[in-house]
This record gives sequence, C-alpha cells and structure tokens, in this order.
Amino acid sequence: MTLSPELTFNDGNTIPQLGYGVWQVEDDVAEKVVVQAFEAGFRHIDTAKIYGNEAGVGRAIERSGLKPEDIFITTKLWNADQGYESTLAAFEASMERLGLETLDLYLIHWQQPKQDKYVDTWKALIELQKRGRVKSIGVSNFTTEGLHRIIDETGVVPAINQIELHPFFNQAELREFNASKGILTQAWSPLGQGGELLEHPAIAEIAAKHNATPAQVVIAWHLAIGNVVIPKSVTESRIRENYAALDVTLDEADIQAINGLDRTAEGTGRIGADPSVSDFA
Ligand code: NAD
Repeated sequence: MTLSPELTFNDGNTIPQLGYGVWQVEDDVAEKVVVQAFEAGFRHIDTAKIYGNEAGVGRAIERSGLKPEDIFITTKLWNADQGYESTLAAFEASMERLGLETLDLYLIHWQQPKQDKYVDTWKALIELQKRGRVKSIGVSNFTTEGLHRIIDETGVVPAINQIELHPFFNQAELREFNASKGILTQAWSPLGQGGELLEHPAIAEIAAKHNATPAQVVIAWHLAIGNVVIPKSVTESRIRENYAALDVTLDEADIQAINGLDRTAEGTGRIGADPSVSDFA
C-alpha cells in the first residue's frame, strides 16, 4: 500500500499530507468510518469538538489496534471555549473523549475577530505544547491579519493554517503568505463538498487521461501544490478511492488547467463562511 508523504512543520514534527475528515458524521458512524479509513491506509484523522464525534474517533483508534506513534490526530478548539483558562479546560475534555494521552495537532477552529480572544487562546495552545500535552499547534480559518497578530504578540508561528481551499477557491494569496511564514496550508472542503466541481468537464478530461476518478484528480492536485488535504466520505468504496489518489500523478498542464478553475475574482468560489467577518456562537 502506498503511504502518504509526510510534510514537516516549522516545529520539526511531521504530518501525513493526506488525511481523512469527519465533519457532519454522527458519533457512532464516525467509529465505523474511521476504522474503514484506517483499513484503507489513512493514518491522519481530522475532527473537532463541534463535530460531536471525538468519542467515536477515540473508539475507532482503540478498535484499530494502531499505536499512537503510527497515527496522527487533529482536533479543534470551539469558539465558545476561546480564552486562556477555558482553552486549557476544553483541551482536557477533548482528550478525555478521544482517549488519548498526547495529541498530534490542536487548532483554534475560527479566528472570531469580533470575539477577539484569539491571542489569549493562542497563548493557551503555546502553554499546552510546552507542557507536552500536544505536539504541534496551529490555527484554522485565520486571515493574514490574525496570523500577523498572534505571531507578533507571542513570537510563536503556527505550524499550519487549515482553510477552505478547492479548485473553485484556490487561495493562492493566503497559501503564499502561509508559506512565507513557514506555515503549512491545509485544505478543508478539498472536494468542494462534491457536486459541481466533481462534475466539471475539465476535471473529467484529466480523470480520463489518467484513468482516475474526478475526486482522485482533485486530491492529486492538492498534493501536487503542497497542501495537506482531508477529504471526507462515509462510503467505504469512496474512502478507498480517495486514499488511492496517492497513486495519481498530475503533470504541469493538468495542474495549470485546474488552477484555471478558480472563481475568486468572480466572488463565487467560496462555499463556507468568510473568516474575516464570521462570528459563530
Ligand atoms: P469535502 O470537500 O471533503 O467533500 C465531501 C463530500 O464530497 C462527501 O460528503 C461526498 O458527497 C463527496 N465525495 C467524497 N468523496 C467522493 C468521491 N470519491 N466521489 C464522489 N464524491 C465524493 O467536504 P468537507 O467534509 O466539507 O471537508 C472535508 C473535511 O474538512 C471535513 O470533514 C472536516 O474534517 C474539514 N473541515 C474543516 C472546516 C474548518 O472550519 N476547519 C470546515 C469544513 C470542513
């Protein structure tokens, strides 16, 4: 079985470039599908407190029999828990549900600029890393402004920024900024949540050329441009199909063609909330 490439964080730790995400997966279903993902070859799982399935992910880890050093687990701090002390407490509650001693990666889920607690929250993540409770710390849905601020105020650069990123919204500018700071870029909703992107004729053409599926072509594009990528599916055949994207190698013309699908200039690329203004409870 092909193993995912590993990318190296600015703190020296590594992350499998291809992982498996479990947003909108019920807790009991998460247990089943994460076991299937491990069987397919995935070793990197992306969950969050707000997904309500950390316990299911924890049971899957236990059932898999895989050793902690052979897997990579990410969870995220929810917005309502932002703030220094509340972050420390929320982290322990997540670890309890996951059944883990040490976490691989802890992320601030959203910047929440109006709430404006993210600098204190980031300080708590730095403390958790110092205590050895979490190996690497990062952020999700952070803008250049938020990144500048946490770096300037603490001197600690996040390992990764997990952001909405797919061929219709390819985040060229933020990817470049992340890279300039030594921050890896991780793509959420990497398949554009299925639908139109996977039916696009340009993707179909590249898929036919490589004897691959549209989802595999999109995942291969993420891998080729250096993203950490976490596609989700609850269908076992698709979980396997998505993992097998590791065996699809695009050429430069394919990559350029997929880069050309970006709709940022038209303002129609984004699916989810805009982190510079979003304010979730
Ligand atoms: P995605 O882009 O991974 O799309 C998932 C959907 O695509 C599936 O539900 C299915 O309908 C379809 N699909 C998957 N594999 C397919 C295949 N092989 N063929 C055809 N269709 C297929 O969407 P997502 O779940 O939104 O994002 C992936 C992960 O990113 C999430 O599970 C979560 O872990 C993470 N995420 C994070 C944030 C954040 O704020 N940090 C937000 C959204 C998602």
